[in-house]
Amino acid sequence: MSIAQNVARIRADIEKAALACGRDPKQILLCAATKMNDAGSVRQAIAAGVDCCGENRVQELTAKLAENAYEGAPVHFIGHLQTNKVRQVVGKVDLIQSVDRLKLLECIQTEAARQGIVQDILLEINVGEEESKSGFNVCDILPLVQNMAEYPNIRVRGLMAIPPICENPGDNDKFFLEIRNLAVDITAKKYDNVCVDVLSMGMSGDYADAIACGSTMIRVGTAIFGARDYGKTHQ
Ligand SMILES: *Cc1c(COP(=O)(O)O)cnc(C)c1O
Repeated sequence: MSIAQNVARIRADIEKAALACGRDPKQILLCAATKMNDAGSVRQAIAAGVDCCGENRVQELTAKLAENAYEGAPVHFIGHLQTNKVRQVVGKVDLIQSVDRLKLLECIQTEAARQGIVQDILLEINVGEEESKSGFNVCDILPLVQNMAEYPNIRVRGLMAIPPICENPGDNDKFFLEIRNLAVDITAKKYDNVCVDVLSMGMSGDYADAIACGSTMIRVGTAIFGARDYGKTHQ
């Protein structure tokens, strides 16, 4: 199947999942997770109508920006971001989805202030509290967002979560619901610099479940581009 056909199929799935729970399909954005796919594939996905692209690695982001690969769609950073690479990302992407620790938040603030911009971000939550994953714990988030006025060059737009790899459909629903409930709690507090319009959750294997649980942005790689070839050398 072509990238365009895959995107069309995913759009149909989004519509079905949204309508099944009484949501407007337009509330759910499709972010193409473009890692390990070249500029040509990225352009095809944009032409097929994905809402945005999400890049994982700074080096790939920089290379594809130089090729104008994302023309016509916003680009987000969705991978683990080392603090020494913050300069290559802040101001270059519309949204940094993967802000997973305090130190990174501080570095983004410093760099955004230096550039004189306000950087939109999501706070990444390690919802399954897995050792192998980065991200804030759910219980860290309320104390953190209370203090976002201390980061005037950052605007929190929502939450991002990568739950554990699921064995069976529905396995991750409890995590998706936990994130949605957290978003409801944050919204009720009306903190400065914080809104939670974006709930980025759901990937190729579980996006329909995520939509049923309130996701507003699904990040899809494999189902758009096919399986990634990890045999190729990548840095
Ligand atoms: C690769 C990736 C995705 C997409 O994963 P698929 O299972 O290929 O859809 C989503 N989010 C992040 C952060 C990723 O790195």
